[in-house]
Amino acid sequence: MADHEWFHVQALAPGVWQLTEPGHVCTWLVAGTERAVLIDTGCGFVPIRPLVQALTALPVTVVNTHHHVDHVGGDHEFDEVLIHEAGVAGLAAGVAAKHLTGYREYALAQEEAAAAYAQLDARFFHLQRDEHRPRPLPACVRDGTWAIEPVAATGTIADGDVIDLGGRTLRALHTPGHSPADVSLELVGEGLLFGGDTVNTGPVYVQNPDSSVPQLRASLALLAARSQDWRRVFCSHFMRTAVPPSYLHAQVAALDELLAGTVARTPAVDCVGTAVDEASFDGFSFFLPLGWLPPATNETH
Ligand SMILES: [Zn+2]
Ligand SMILES: [Zn+2]
Repeated sequence: MADHEWFHVQALAPGVWQLTEPGHVCTWLVAGTERAVLIDTGCGFVPIRPLVQALTALPVTVVNTHHHVDHVGGDHEFDEVLIHEAGVAGLAAGVAAKHLTGYREYALAQEEAAAAYAQLDARFFHLQRDEHRPRPLPACVRDGTWAIEPVAATGTIADGDVIDLGGRTLRALHTPGHSPADVSLELVGEGLLFGGDTVNTGPVYVQNPDSSVPQLRASLALLAARSQDWRRVFCSHFMRTAVPPSYLHAQVAALDELLAGTVARTPAVDCVGTAVDEASFDGFSFFLPLGWLPPATNETH
């Protein structure tokens, strides 16, 4: 399989593309008249820069939504990499071997499950499109040589920062909760919001030691309060990678239930093999640390 076939490419608007690693993660390329921004660089299973260069000849700045393994894999291919200051150390530290091993096992298990899933879908359900079908995993995943290069960020991006691409503007919104470093990016005046891991349609990961459910609630409430500004909200993971802005309100309402302590949890395992508690709602869930309890009411807002 040629490297570029690993990605599903979808034009979202003139000069805006979603580059999907089906079953894994989405990145987005946004081009103006002067420069382009690549929002995240994916898993790093195959080089992403050749695909980016095939889509735009403009100089490209990488803006990471945060520093996690599946969002920064191609950062080392680019000269300019921006991330929130809370993600600088994580980006420079590289990825722990246990996370690479855990994610590799997840990817292999998903590939095996995908074949049976596709058969069921073709016979009964008819939901899958090309963008939903995981591609055959590249050799580096099979043979265990997949690695993520540590990267020194060339700059930071903070809440409210704007990046002028020439004729269009991206604005960063600091939306911590999943991690302290999360930023969402809005394409100003064009109705598109790139939510990274702040907005997801499978389990929303809030189980890490540096995650915070109250912070995630605050971040999603901030986005939901501006939902009239966006037509579509894009998510990094799972198969529903675009949601209507009303989805933000549904997530805030769910987090309010969770913080009120009224939601049951069931055992689950995240993509790097960590045991978690899962709180499920209609169409999404939240992964929480084992035994998580809501903080006292006066700390939640
Ligand atoms: Zn993440
Ligand atoms: Zn992620």
